[in-house]
Amino acid sequence: MTRTTTRARLIISRLLMAAALATAAPVVQAPALAQSTAAPSAGPAEPALIEDLVAAGRILVNQGVLDGFGHVSVRHPKDPTRFLMARSVAPALVVADDIVEHDLDGNGIDAKGRTLFLERFIHAEVYRARPDVMAVVHSHSPATIPFGASQVPMRAMFHNSAFLAAGVPVFEIRKAGGMTNMLVGSGALGKALAEALGDKPAVLMRGHGNVVVGPSIQLAVFRAVYLEVNARLQLQAISLGGPITYLEAEEGVKADKVNEVISARPWDIWKKQALGK
Ligand SMILES: [Zn+2]
Repeated sequence: MTRTTTRARLIISRLLMAAALATAAPVVQAPALAQSTAAPSAGPAEPALIEDLVAAGRILVNQGVLDGFGHVSVRHPKDPTRFLMARSVAPALVVADDIVEHDLDGNGIDAKGRTLFLERFIHAEVYRARPDVMAVVHSHSPATIPFGASQVPMRAMFHNSAFLAAGVPVFEIRKAGGMTNMLVGSGALGKALAEALGDKPAVLMRGHGNVVVGPSIQLAVFRAVYLEVNARLQLQAISLGGPITYLEAEEGVKADKVNEVISARPWDIWKKQALGK
């Protein structure tokens, strides 16, 4: 074998190895990395709406629903294909300048290099699937976790959590993504979560937390607070032993109509406490 032939074979074998490696390379989830787009903005939202969005995060921290994690968003009033949510920052520290417009693929519109929440796809895909939803809360509120991990369904204990009487589905991320890091970090997982939510106001996420939706920031916050309260009350009722009488679906519908009206009352005091004014 001549030296030239050997060298040629070496080059060909290296090329084949490189091609094999390129084929076998793991697929990087592009949407999670595509954080910003130059698409035109839907325009500025009313300062009062931004204030409510900032207040919502702080209220939920004060109420023990959010901690250093979790987020609240609101659909953009001028464009249903956009929503507003803070950059990646602890909810108690959010200020108006942190609010970033997002599209339904999870891209930030003019994010100015700010890091976005990894789980923004939860919000994007719920807004895409549910035209009735105007606000979304994602939290890891602790008392709800046992209900996502056990076979005991969460059920409505009292009138403030009447929205739960419609049923509380559980999102099993393994069905959608196999063995994941438990986070909804892609559009595909967000879509699967939105499908698990269906037409309900809340969905539990096994081993993670929950998502609560509403027709306004005020009602989404109200529901997120009383989802956590309901979980604590139900755990207490179970510990008492014996049968438990939950709200029936019809009672839930009737009580929830009242809650839609009176949710402004706790909101006023929660907002005052959260913003100190
Ligand atoms: Zn989360």
